Amino acid sequence: MEFQIGVIAGDGIGPEVVAEAKKVLNKVGAVYGHSFHYKSILMGGCSIDATGVPLTDEAIAAAKASDAVLMGSIGGNTQTSPWYQLPPQLRPEAGLLKLRKSLNLFANLRPAYLYEELKEACPLRDNIIGDGFDMMIMRELTGGLYFGERKTEEIDGVMTAVDTLTYNENEIRRIAKRGFDIAMKRRKKVTSVDKANVLDSSRLWRKVVEEVAEDYPEVAYEHMLVDNCAMQLVKNPGQFDVILTENMFGDILSDEASMVTGSIGMLSSASLNDTKFGLYEPSGGSAPDIAGKGIANPIATILSAAMMLRYSFDLDKEADAVEEAVRQVLKDGYRTIDIMPQNENENVTLIGTAKMGDFICERIK
Ligand code: NAD
Repeated sequence: MEFQIGVIAGDGIGPEVVAEAKKVLNKVGAVYGHSFHYKSILMGGCSIDATGVPLTDEAIAAAKASDAVLMGSIGGNTQTSPWYQLPPQLRPEAGLLKLRKSLNLFANLRPAYLYEELKEACPLRDNIIGDGFDMMIMRELTGGLYFGERKTEEIDGVMTAVDTLTYNENEIRRIAKRGFDIAMKRRKKVTSVDKANVLDSSRLWRKVVEEVAEDYPEVAYEHMLVDNCAMQLVKNPGQFDVILTENMFGDILSDEASMVTGSIGMLSSASLNDTKFGLYEPSGGSAPDIAGKGIANPIATILSAAMMLRYSFDLDKEADAVEEAVRQVLKDGYRTIDIMPQNENENVTLIGTAKMGDFICERIK
């Protein structure tokens, strides 16, 4: 099959890690008989330097014309880079927000998976980790508290601020469907997280999720209050498969879940709309402190490319092969600097960005 991939290499370590993900995709193409065609798209600081704005209309059009977009990361050192002297709407991150909005990317997916080999980086005790965990946080990305009306005003001499949390049933239904669809590709369990004991928006959320669940009889689902979920993530993370939740709860829970896995260099993510299109990117930033040194961990970007294979292209077998190659390279003892064990360990070898990409390619069967 043939696929058009928009590529936003971006700034800092972005171009370095994206190069490795492309290497891996090309290997998948060679082994499984697919052709991936790449179109470079400018966004972030490099776009500011070239065009004066972080995202041009041509860049948006190029992204829309692609089957999916693979991204590195954007931005620079926020203290020293001249990009951060610009007004907020012209800074690198404004490009990403504009792109998400233009593409209507309402569903954010962040996996939290514990690799046996990186168990040491997990802050939880062995008896809590048990057999490990493998969950997917599905967060609504374009509604709720972050997009509702807000104001700050003085009322009777007292400064008062208001933020509004709004969801309509259509917004809830489309993300819930996405969540159940993803669960069908996994272990078929959805935990819908809300605060239905207090919030009207959560009670509507719960009602709509129950309606959607009727169309997925194979998926087991449960409701969980967000405060309980925050506790369960550090008490028994192995119980979760897909966690489905609204924007702010998802913002907080996805960071909590990712931190129990260890390094930022391992964390992939995807943002999807209601077609097969998605934007795939590592969860970390552009890491200006290590850019250009050839030491960044490309695994988060490579795993994001695997998500693209699975969720935008329906190439599950190929995605499995990439994920298995990553597991194997860790088993074989290769580590980038961010995932090197603290204590001396003669069974592991330190390697750089390009070698990590090469070694993962070698293990794609
Ligand atoms: P960061 O994630 O870039 O870096 C935090 C720390 O993690 C650094 O020490 C860095 O070296 C390390 N790190 C990150 N990714 C790594 C990798 N793949 N391999 C090894 N180490 C890695 O966060 P920051 O320093 O707060 O932000 C830097 C810039 O990135 C800022 O301009 C910020 O706005 C931007 N940012 C962009 C995105 C995005 O593109 N989606 C996301 C977050 C931050």
